[in-house]
Amino acid sequence: MISPIAIRLERGTDLKQAIQKLVHDRKVTAGTVASCVGCLSQLQVRLAGAQQSLTLEEPLEIVSLMGTLTPAHQHIHISVSKQNGEVIGGHLLNGSIIDTTAELVIHSYTDLQFDRAFDPATGYTELTVSSIETQIPPESDLTSNLMR
Ligand SMILES: [Zn+2]
Repeated sequence: MISPIAIRLERGTDLKQAIQKLVHDRKVTAGTVASCVGCLSQLQVRLAGAQQSLTLEEPLEIVSLMGTLTPAHQHIHISVSKQNGEVIGGHLLNGSIIDTTAELVIHSYTDLQFDRAFDPATGYTELTVSSIETQIPPESDLTSNLMR
């Protein structure tokens, strides 16, 4: 089941830390970023295929935000547009600061568990997906229990 969470982030908020806090506070076991419309005064991203990060301090529009949210780790990619319309993006890091506002919607999947496990093929921890067992046994189990 999808349980949406929608909040407004205010000026000065660290975008990645705010998402991390939301996942923790709302006990999200598996989630995605559904939408984020807003602007940043500072961007901090890791670039594709690189170890180094890029920092920009200028007015930036958030034009997309995508993320896979596990309880212990939030893997988030962002793209932003500059004042001349040029778009850049990368892997979101701490230090990306909301300017006036950001409208954030997260989808929490209450019957799924997202996690991360080391994959020797990539050398990184990669996403794992499992179902959360329901507490109520299926009807067939109830019937067989009653017949005993
Ligand atoms: Zn990434």
